[in-house]
Amino acid sequence: MSKEVMIDVVNLEKSFGKHKVLEDISFSVPKGKVIALIGPSGSGKSTLLRCINLLEMPDAGAITINGKTMDFGILSLRYRTTELAAFRAETGMVFQSFNLFPNMTVLENVMAGQRFVKGISKDQAELIARPLLAQVGMEGFAASMPQRLSGGQKQRVAIARALAMNPKVMLFDEATSALDPQRVAEILTIMRELAQAGMTQVVVTHEMSYARDVADIVMFMADGRVVESGPARQVIEDPQEERTKDFLKHFH
Ligand code: ADP
Ligand code: MG
Repeated sequence: MSKEVMIDVVNLEKSFGKHKVLEDISFSVPKGKVIALIGPSGSGKSTLLRCINLLEMPDAGAITINGKTMDFGILSLRYRTTELAAFRAETGMVFQSFNLFPNMTVLENVMAGQRFVKGISKDQAELIARPLLAQVGMEGFAASMPQRLSGGQKQRVAIARALAMNPKVMLFDEATSALDPQRVAEILTIMRELAQAGMTQVVVTHEMSYARDVADIVMFMADGRVVESGPARQVIEDPQEERTKDFLKHFH
């Protein structure tokens, strides 16, 4: 594998009971590139993101991120908690529902992972957190409680919190789906700036213009399988598979 590959997923499988949710998923993402995952509800996009950061344990296959490989299936048993945590730390995840800690201020939310997972001192964590709040336009809200914030503001804090752990890859699961239209653009702008700064991203999105204009690769999934994958503009504007064509019709 080339040094320039940041994410390599090989023959990934995941079932919930008898329901096979991911079947033979393989793809790779070069360092600094953005892959957009599109597809109908229930096609397995969230489960795939959750497998990449080990919120779900895959049943089979392998994932390499930043040169670290995890083999799943029977081999999963050999991993220690510390190895799983180290692998998880390569990725930062942003959810549709924000998931901020409600009992902490904005600043404390962004410092929490560094302090309690990495054991970094309070002063050191604050030195990292404040510029990240500025980067997402939330420096004026450091002392605010999450419940006082709009959805778009919460999502900006959630992005800063994920970045505070210094991940190599950012995973976005429909990060704009719960937002008002004008807030959607603000979050997409932050994601676009991250892309321009060279952050590798896996983005589950229904924003086809973002997928076309910002993503490098678009992967269309249906029923737990990759139906079609390729250069973003080509897949969005000139899909080859009937299922992809049908899906994209809903967005015109
Ligand atoms: P998408 O994000 O593309 O909408 P999901 O990954 O959320 O799809 O879901 C794919 C399928 O897996 C769906 O049929 C969903 O009901 C099922 N599923 C997801 N998570 C679980 C779970 N924890 N237990 C059982 N079934 C699940
Ligand atoms: Mg989903």
